[in-house]
Amino acid sequence: MGGTFDPVHHGHLVAASEVQARFDLDEVIFVPTGEPWQKGAREVSPAEDRYLMTVIATASNPRFSVSRADIDRDGPTYTVDTLQDLRASRPDAELFFITGADALAQILSWRDAEKLFGLAHFIGVTRPGYTLDDHHLPDGSVSLVEVPALAISSTACRDRVALGEPVWYLVPDGVVQYIQKRNLYADRTIGCRSE
Ligand code: ATP
Ligand code: MG
Repeated sequence: MGGTFDPVHHGHLVAASEVQARFDLDEVIFVPTGEPWQKGAREVSPAEDRYLMTVIATASNPRFSVSRADIDRDGPTYTVDTLQDLRASRPDAELFFITGADALAQILSWRDAEKLFGLAHFIGVTRPGYTLDDHHLPDGSVSLVEVPALAISSTACRDRVALGEPVWYLVPDGVVQYIQKRNLYADRTIGCRSE
C-alpha cells in the first residue's frame, strides 16, 4: 500500500487490515513515498518523519511492515519503480497493490500505467466522498473491495493540528504523540489539499 502517509491515519489502517483478511495476504507492506510527484502544491513532511509515523502505527500488527524502498530511492516516486523494487526483494511473491478509490481514479495517469498491471494485482477500496469504479482498467487486473467507511484524510488531520484541534482517535495514539514531539503541521496553510 503506497501513500504519502502525512500522517498515516486509521482510514489507511482499516483498509489495509480489511484487504489483508479478505485476500489472506501474508504481509501488507506500507510504502511511504519519497518525493511525491503529484503533491507539488504543498510541502510534504520529511520522509523520515512520515516513515517513522508509519512504523509507529503498524508496529503492533504482525502482518504489517513498512518499506523504505521509495524514500531511499532518489528522485520522484513512481509506483512502477516501487513495484519493481518490491518484486526484486521478494522474487517469489505475488504482489497486490492496495489503493483508495481516489488514487485508483488517477492510475491511468501514472507513469508506465500499462506496465503496472503486469507487476501487481490492483485492489481498489472504497473511500467516503469518492466513487469506486474500475475505470475500464484491463480485465482481471483490478478487484474492488468495500471496506468500513472512515471519513478521515491526512489533509484534514494536518488542518486540525494547525487549528489546534484534536486528532486523537483519527490517528493512532503514538502518531498523535509523534506529531506533538516533532511539532509537525503547526504552521501550515489551512486547506492546502493534495491528492
Ligand atoms: P492526503 O489528504 O494528504 O492526500 P490521504 O488521506 O489521501 O492524504 P494518502 O497518503 O494520500 O492519504 O493515501 C494513501 C492511500 O490510502 C491512497 O490509495 C488513498 O486512496 C488511501 N486512503 C486514504 N485515506 C483513506 C480512507 N479514509 N479510506 C480508504 N482509503 C484511504
Ligand atoms: Mg491522498
